[in-house]
Amino acid sequence: MGKVKDFGQDLRELYDKLEVGIVIYDVKGDDTDIVYVNKFLCEFITGETMEAGSSNWSYEGKGPSEYVYPKDMKKYKKQFLDSLIGDGEFSEEIRLMRKDGSFTWFKVRIYSLANDGETKQVMVSFDDVDKATKRREELKRRVDYDPLTGIFNKEAFYRHTEKMLKANPDVQYVMIRWEIAKFKMINTLFGSEVGDRVLKKMAEAVKLAEGIGTYGHLEADHFVMCLPLSNVDFDNLLRKDAIDFDDLGISHKIVSNIGVYIIDEPDLPVDQMCDRALMALKNIKGSYKSSFAIYDDEIRKNMITEQIIQDRMDEALECGEFEVYLQPIHSLSHNAVASAEALVRWNYKWKELMSPGIFIPIFERNGFIAQLDMYMFESVCRILKDRKDKGLEEIPISVNASRRTLYDRDFCSKVNAITEKYGVEPHLLKIEITETAYTDNPQQLLEIVNELKEVGYPILMDDFGSGYSSFNILKDIPIDMLKIDLKFLEGFEKGGKVGTILTSVLRMARWLGISVIAEGVETDEQRAFLKSITCDFIQGFVFSKPMPVAEFNKYAAQEGGMER
Ligand code: C2E
Ligand code: MG
Ligand code: MG
Repeated sequence: MGKVKDFGQDLRELYDKLEVGIVIYDVKGDDTDIVYVNKFLCEFITGETMEAGSSNWSYEGKGPSEYVYPKDMKKYKKQFLDSLIGDGEFSEEIRLMRKDGSFTWFKVRIYSLANDGETKQVMVSFDDVDKATKRREELKRRVDYDPLTGIFNKEAFYRHTEKMLKANPDVQYVMIRWEIAKFKMINTLFGSEVGDRVLKKMAEAVKLAEGIGTYGHLEADHFVMCLPLSNVDFDNLLRKDAIDFDDLGISHKIVSNIGVYIIDEPDLPVDQMCDRALMALKNIKGSYKSSFAIYDDEIRKNMITEQIIQDRMDEALECGEFEVYLQPIHSLSHNAVASAEALVRWNYKWKELMSPGIFIPIFERNGFIAQLDMYMFESVCRILKDRKDKGLEEIPISVNASRRTLYDRDFCSKVNAITEKYGVEPHLLKIEITETAYTDNPQQLLEIVNELKEVGYPILMDDFGSGYSSFNILKDIPIDMLKIDLKFLEGFEKGGKVGTILTSVLRMARWLGISVIAEGVETDEQRAFLKSITCDFIQGFVFSKPMPVAEFNKYAAQEGGMER
């Protein structure tokens, strides 16, 4: 390497013609001396124009904080100066500032020019890479940020949250997930432009976590925050109107539901933490009382049960794990078994019988109920045929049809095919429907019921009075029987209001030519009262719990000996 030169005029004139920043340093030990700064760079930093060959460093005495962008100062001081003093390579992007504070990205490289043993001369070049870098930064921003709300998207939120949790192992964090209630409806009623504004508002709300924790837009109307527990104001979260949506100028009151997971397993992947907050959220969906729930193990267990049920249901149906239980329905006037209700039981392999209260709602959600109901219809027809083949007395059996089942256009023809297959007379197969089917689509329910009645299947209205449209059903749907469940009539006692209601309903039913079954009858007192008001039929533990078919056959044979 050659000797250190005095930096002559000829080189100055040459370098001043370049569209690249050039700085020449003389480095002696730890001392760095700027020998020359070319015109391009001087003009950039000072904002003044200069003649070629006349440029010189007029920033003498001023520190790099005058021209290095603050966020890059660390990089400049550590990496750049170290490389300058040592013999290190340097090829990095650094932002230089103009006097007005605006900045440009430069690719900075260091070249050794000469070394005489005591002093080394170093050239540093500054290539303007502003456009390319800014484009790259913008792309990065677009990858990390949700374009509508401008906050972190799912992936970026996961990444940053994981980093935050790892960096602060001693802090107790909370995952808070928000969902805008009835967001689809808002979009449909007020248009997507209003929907977008709601989302932006929501994003503003989660931005409150700025500087305390992380926040992001997970998907559609779901937002999330991860905060230290000590920063969470639960009282404020609990307020349904914590976020002010009023200035949107729409008539609908917008509220958000909140699911909280107190992070007790910080090593869990962040997406699973968000799932737990979601589980808590799902737990409150549809509840008018609360808009806030904290995830606990009970919720997780229920979710796991739901998952197992979903995974196993098809196989269970194929393997005959679903069994028909029959619960007798007694005639009060004749004191004998008048009919029975078929209730499904799941002989679950590693659990004892699972209650339909657990799996039926899940099947109603996932649609499997339609298959299960048809299975029950077929099983019941087989039982009826079997009883006939054995010469047993004809006892009608009712089967529950969920609303999904009823809304199958071919429902009636499917039932016909089954009854024909087993030679079952339609009046022996009763069909129980519930109010929800009516609430969903009264017209369609009427058509289905008419079709079924025309063939001769009796129609029962189950759980009468448990919904909002009981009397409309009576008015619109030609049903044959009402079932009133005493559990919906809390505080049953003779002579009280409940007694009066029951008496009135019975009287009304009689006028309409409809008979009444009281179900859920547990005590002799209830039975005696129902008899005194001449209720037609009783179903309940006071007589018998639902039982397997063979047991029912025995039971019915005994009871059948009574006067009918
Ligand atoms: P549901 O159709 O109203 O059936 C009556 C429920 O009350 C049955 O519960 C029965 O065991 C219970 N029960 C009967 N007598 C008494 C009593 O004296 N006291 C009390 N506390 N309860 C009594 P289960 O078998 O658990 O069935 C619950 C619900 O699940 C049924 O209510 C019905 O809605 C549904 N379900 C059962 N099997 C089927 C089915 O095959 N298909 C459909 N779609 N739903 C079904
Ligand atoms: Mg029923
Ligand atoms: Mg019922």
